[in-house]
Amino acid sequence: MIITRQKDFSVILELLKNKKNIFLVGCGECATTCKTGGEPEILAIKKKLEDAGKKVTGWVMPESSCVSAKIKAAMAKNRAALSQSDAVLVFACGAGTQCFKENDRLGLDVFSGNDTLFAALVDSQGNFKEVCSSCGDCVLDLTEGICPVTRCAKGLLNGPCGGQKDGKCETDRTKDCAWILIYKIKQEKKRIGDLKKINKTRDHKKSLKPHFLSIQG
Ligand code: SF4
Ligand code: SF4
Repeated sequence: MIITRQKDFSVILELLKNKKNIFLVGCGECATTCKTGGEPEILAIKKKLEDAGKKVTGWVMPESSCVSAKIKAAMAKNRAALSQSDAVLVFACGAGTQCFKENDRLGLDVFSGNDTLFAALVDSQGNFKEVCSSCGDCVLDLTEGICPVTRCAKGLLNGPCGGQKDGKCETDRTKDCAWILIYKIKQEKKRIGDLKKINKTRDHKKSLKPHFLSIQG
């Protein structure tokens, strides 16, 4: 899931300071779960914008704002409202906002109402936990399913830095040291010997941006 945080309303108003007629776009996937772009949040923003003197020309909640087919269908249904708008304010992740921009044939000014933070798993308490940085060169098979690229503050690939204390990271004593977590599992599974092997440095070419991947035949 892509984690987003809604911008402060004062920042949103500043973005829209020269705009009067605003169309709002939410997202039925991640932004709904993050409570940054679901229907209740879009309706709340609509009211705030109207209270601030803006006209909301319409709003839409595509199933997934980062999928062109879904956003195009939403645009087609709202063409009249979009053509009366000065600006579109998207409450999705950065990919969703850019998906709207890429598919817009009206040349509208498109703004993001959210900041995009990271990709995460949702834990059993509903918290968002960053566990993967999409490095393109996965080492989870060597590290007992715990990602040191993301969960070690220094991204170390060959054991702890020496700053850990009681299993907590030296950069933040509230966070577990990833390498102590890995060590404990190796110990439990009697695979401590694995730690004598030197893991090769990551191939940073695999994380060069922007990524593009085609799965078409
Ligand atoms: S090693 Fe790379 S791909 Fe694997 S979980 Fe960590 S960041 Fe993600
Ligand atoms: S204490 Fe552990 S998690 Fe923190 S930077 Fe050092 S090795 Fe990485």
